[in-house]
Amino acid sequence: MKPLGPIPSGFTATDGELAIDGRKASDLVAEAGDTPLFVYSGGLLARRIADLRAAMPSRLRLHYAIKANPYAPLLEFMASRVDGFDVASGGELAMLEAAGIAADRVSFAGPGKRDRELECAISAGCTINLESEREARRALDIADRTGHRPRLAIRVNPSFELRGSGMKMGGGAKQFGIDEDRVPALGRDLIAAGAEWCGLHIFTGSQALDAEAIIETQANVLALADRLAGEIGEPLAKLNMGGGFGIPYFHGDAPLDIAAIGAALEERFASLPSSLSETELCIELGRYLVGEAGVYLTRIVDRKVSHGYTFLITDGGLHHQLAASGNFGTVVRRNYPLAIASRFDAGPEEEASVVGCLCTPLDRLADQAHLPRADVGDLIAVFCAGAYGATASPAQFLGQGPAREMLIGAAPR
Ligand SMILES: *Cc1c(COP(=O)(O)O)cnc(C)c1O
Repeated sequence: MKPLGPIPSGFTATDGELAIDGRKASDLVAEAGDTPLFVYSGGLLARRIADLRAAMPSRLRLHYAIKANPYAPLLEFMASRVDGFDVASGGELAMLEAAGIAADRVSFAGPGKRDRELECAISAGCTINLESEREARRALDIADRTGHRPRLAIRVNPSFELRGSGMKMGGGAKQFGIDEDRVPALGRDLIAAGAEWCGLHIFTGSQALDAEAIIETQANVLALADRLAGEIGEPLAKLNMGGGFGIPYFHGDAPLDIAAIGAALEERFASLPSSLSETELCIELGRYLVGEAGVYLTRIVDRKVSHGYTFLITDGGLHHQLAASGNFGTVVRRNYPLAIASRFDAGPEEEASVVGCLCTPLDRLADQAHLPRADVGDLIAVFCAGAYGATASPAQFLGQGPAREMLIGAAPR
């Protein structure tokens, strides 16, 4: 038997079935037309954002990194609820524009921006987080040629990293950002070239569950920003402090203590150096905002026993849930939170592995889990499916195609 990850709070049982925003899984599948289906809960999204805002200093702005989930109705939902958006490609910028979100609320980071992506972003008024000196020159040339004043910030590759993060994106040799010792010279050049100077972006890692590590990193980020602003010779208009807030995926993971992070930030914000006293400060979050609000529903199409082990074979799999299968940046495969949605209030009765329909042994959604007995036709729910699911999985693999998606419980505001 292998433990399952913790099911996020906010889900209930109705008539014995999993309910999301009070609606039964089977009804949601009937409305969507079929499985596999991603359901995103507007109720849980709204609650997450409200809790986060309550914990953080009011001065801190909240950005959504849409890489985590760019589903169009979800972007529209976020439009009135976060202060800004971060994209990592021209394609993501186009998704925001299609959702009616103005480019002046958007910043664009990512190595390898092509000329046409820079051109679209600069003419739309998006802030570019520059990732190299060469990219800076290209951006200035494109702005000149197209007659725009570019909004330029520098993505810094800091010398420190976010301790305990799942994916490290700062510290040492990296393809992201510009090494911190070269930042001041470039900052002065951009200002001299007449660009609108939009400050610094310092992102150090992802998926941290240790509040102390985030607190320490945020202190390092503020200290570095102050030092760089001093060397550049101008106060910073904006500072993107990065993110890294993680969510519990696995057995033994505990939720991040955002109250502790908020309290530490409140204290730092009360005594900022003059280079940062007028600065617009933001954090950029992906999975923390959307991950736990999503559920992936898939139906059991076969049940079989091999060498004494029970397999529940579903119509879903790693082509939609690469991360839950353990093939998206994990070293040791562990079980995500998962349940038999049709029998959500039942206790465990047997050991079974839940697998997908792909012809590869990598396609596992739960390994030797303790579950209520389930049979063909029952629905399986994989939790923590709101981030890095639909668009971070190889939907075309084996000719399967994408899953259905729906956002529910999204009261307009
Ligand atoms: C991926 C990424 C994010 C979002 O990461 P999460 O772990 O989903 O919060 C934010 N900023 C940058 C620069 C990223 O590359």
